[in-house]
Amino acid sequence: MHEQTIAEMSRALAAGEVSSVELTRGLLARIERPELAGNSFITVTAEQALAEAEAADRARAAGQAGPLTGVPIAHKDIFCTNDVRTSCGSHMLDRFVAPYDATVVERLRAAGCVMLGKTNMDEFAMGSSNETSWYGPVENPWDRSRVPGGSSGGSAAAVAARLAPGATGTDTGGSIRQPAALCGITGLKPTYGRVSRYGMVAFASSLDQGGPMARTAEDCALLLDGMAGFDPRDSTSIERDVDDCAGALDSYPLAGMRVGRPAEYFGDGMAAEVREAVDAATQQLAELGAEIVDISLPHTELSIPAYYVVAPAEASSNLSRYDGVRFGHRCAEPSDVLDLYERSRAEGFGDEVKRRIMVGTYALSAGYYDAYYLKAQQIRQLISDDFRKAFSDVDLILGPTSPTTAFPLGERADDPVAMYLSDVYTIAANLAGLPALSMPAGFADGLPVGVQLIGDHFSEGRLLAAAHGYQQATDWHRQAPPGID
Ligand code: GLN
Repeated sequence: MHEQTIAEMSRALAAGEVSSVELTRGLLARIERPELAGNSFITVTAEQALAEAEAADRARAAGQAGPLTGVPIAHKDIFCTNDVRTSCGSHMLDRFVAPYDATVVERLRAAGCVMLGKTNMDEFAMGSSNETSWYGPVENPWDRSRVPGGSSGGSAAAVAARLAPGATGTDTGGSIRQPAALCGITGLKPTYGRVSRYGMVAFASSLDQGGPMARTAEDCALLLDGMAGFDPRDSTSIERDVDDCAGALDSYPLAGMRVGRPAEYFGDGMAAEVREAVDAATQQLAELGAEIVDISLPHTELSIPAYYVVAPAEASSNLSRYDGVRFGHRCAEPSDVLDLYERSRAEGFGDEVKRRIMVGTYALSAGYYDAYYLKAQQIRQLISDDFRKAFSDVDLILGPTSPTTAFPLGERADDPVAMYLSDVYTIAANLAGLPALSMPAGFADGLPVGVQLIGDHFSEGRLLAAAHGYQQATDWHRQAPPGID
């Protein structure tokens, strides 16, 4: 049962072969096994899940079921959930319970999804390995001594270990796509503004975007259709109809699709075994009829330095709300208000979060603003222009998702720059606000390799259809980690 995708569960539920209560019970039993869960959940909401599953079964019996009715999923612990703790992976929010649901949670709930629990993540989504979580690292189901990627590491590991057929994630610089790649699943970062950020704890507001993580492109389409759309409560939400992505999976055939291969994504820095898998996937797409076109995105190497100014700058501002007064952790017996702020923040935040706040505050300070923040915004424009030019010639852009496969736990934990380099291929899409996905495309030494597809604004339908076409012809996405029966 747990081997089924969302689409398969949806069909089995519709055919009456299984109930949502049965599916939910089965998955909860797996989540309770630590050797399978590998610390991928921060909070399990078993009782509530069973109540939601019962309600879904009743709705179905009353003839009111949609494609997601009764399908159990997990939410990254960055999405506010009414009455259930939202920790964002931080000691700061360890006891924070929101009085409302994030729009993403609300919409998926309204579509009939059952929430199994909240998944582990890097603290405030800052990281690429899930090791900055206050709740401890998550194990990669393919090799439990390795990281699952981050920051949506818990969601990726849970989906890969078949604890949930799908989960939500967020992606500010790669946090859906990189863990999807390292755990051998499919993950989509939508166009900026497509999915509401209301109720999603803010990291870097001009980059943050929620999206689906699942085993197949088809399942990502089903989840995206459930969560996307205009929301007046998010001022950057786009007032524009969202395509029916699940219904459009066959509308964009690979035959004749022009796929750009940027020279800058295939230079030094990519591990040889990753390159082999990405080259093989390129070849396969060509065999399926895609036309591979050499292109250039000349400002690619500036994306990491630009991101690591813009993202910390916005984070330093967003995280100023955690002052021990209104949100989260409050230190014991403060002597005055300054002591309250200082100790609450010193105790509540971990090292990486503090590093970002300091870097961001510095970059925004008088005298440095023009040299750092303004410069980074100018680079951001150049990166967007590169993509605009590329998309006048090609339909999609293809490259690696991550320069390496899953690395050992601890390997980069004390080396922030090595960690930041994990995002070298993913960050540009965030800076330009473009949709991008990662899909499984092979293995190297038993570890999954992901291929990234980047599309023009609002081309989620085409992106998911291309990935679906690839997945119809390959079975990388069907492989399961060893020992998860
Ligand atoms: N790894 C990147 C960072 O630490 C991206 C994180 C994300 O996308 N949330 O900022």
